[in-house]
Amino acid sequence: MTVPPPGGIDCDIHPAIPSIDVLLPYLSAHWREQVVTRGLDELNSIAYPDNSPLTARPDWRPAQGRPGATLAQVQAQALDAFGTSLAICNCLYGVQVLFSEDLAAAIARAVNDWIAKEWLDRDPRLRASIVVPSQSTELAVEEIERLAGDQRFVQVLLLAMGDTPLGRRHHWPIYAAAERHGLAVGIHAGGSYHNPPTPVGWPGTHTEDYVNQAQAFQSQLTSLITEGVFSRYPALKVVLLESGFTWLPAHLWRLTKYWRGLRMEIPWVDRSPAEIVRSNVRLTIQPVDAPEGDALNRLIDHMQSDELLLFSTDFPHWQFDGAEALPDGLDATLVRRIMIDNPRATYARLLEPVA
Ligand code: ZN
Repeated sequence: MTVPPPGGIDCDIHPAIPSIDVLLPYLSAHWREQVVTRGLDELNSIAYPDNSPLTARPDWRPAQGRPGATLAQVQAQALDAFGTSLAICNCLYGVQVLFSEDLAAAIARAVNDWIAKEWLDRDPRLRASIVVPSQSTELAVEEIERLAGDQRFVQVLLLAMGDTPLGRRHHWPIYAAAERHGLAVGIHAGGSYHNPPTPVGWPGTHTEDYVNQAQAFQSQLTSLITEGVFSRYPALKVVLLESGFTWLPAHLWRLTKYWRGLRMEIPWVDRSPAEIVRSNVRLTIQPVDAPEGDALNRLIDHMQSDELLLFSTDFPHWQFDGAEALPDGLDATLVRRIMIDNPRATYARLLEPVA
């Protein structure tokens, strides 16, 4: 691994909510009372247990509190350390786990307002994804519309494992809203855990859960393509966040083969899946789940595009050591694309001046 050149755009960092107390001022009186009387205390993502080594790199763990929970930590460890020009905050909180759609909407609103006030207002290098209550498409769209005027929000954040595949039509108003406002749709590892994180039942370890996330991403990508989301919303950009990417060429070979054989079933998929991915889908680079050197370059050749990968550190998750966030052996043109050009082409709002 190697140190990336400065000036990059980090497309996946995770500021943490230190405790639900910080959200209380951003909740209405009703929901504040509900949170307090129900005794809701911690909604941190169950995909990343606090003490799991993957959740935070040892040198990014503060003496007290949660990693990435203060602006000073994120500035020093995620921004200054890599010379980052812009970074997109993907706040992972248990919004999607809740069964109450209204409570989920209230918490999502609070998270977004907290991110805007406590983070985006305080460092011009920060951008963010809109956290939505994906349990309710209606409320998710309402939240997108509420925040769409703020150009610092560049993406709508969904999780890889929800209750239904993301290509199903009841999700489409979210994609319509995102396309209408020039927002990308980011799908991040993790989920509601209402279903097992594998198609063969519940695993017993964090290792299985994390490794199997790749299957969830494959299923979601297949669903989005076969259900026709990109035919209906041709300008939509979908970013797979923390998905890994070595599975992509083999999965696309398989998907394209069976699209050829079964396309009578899905005539609205008017281009090959590989072509759709090249125009509409992007992936963040961490975790780099490939061997370094020639193997990685061959893999990028198989993808037949140097526009697919976006720089990310996945701060504070432990994906690499030191400042060596990029694989070795990539040529300078490709590095520039991954660090700057591809993120700018993916997130239209990064080019807009921020009021
Ligand atoms: Zn991540």
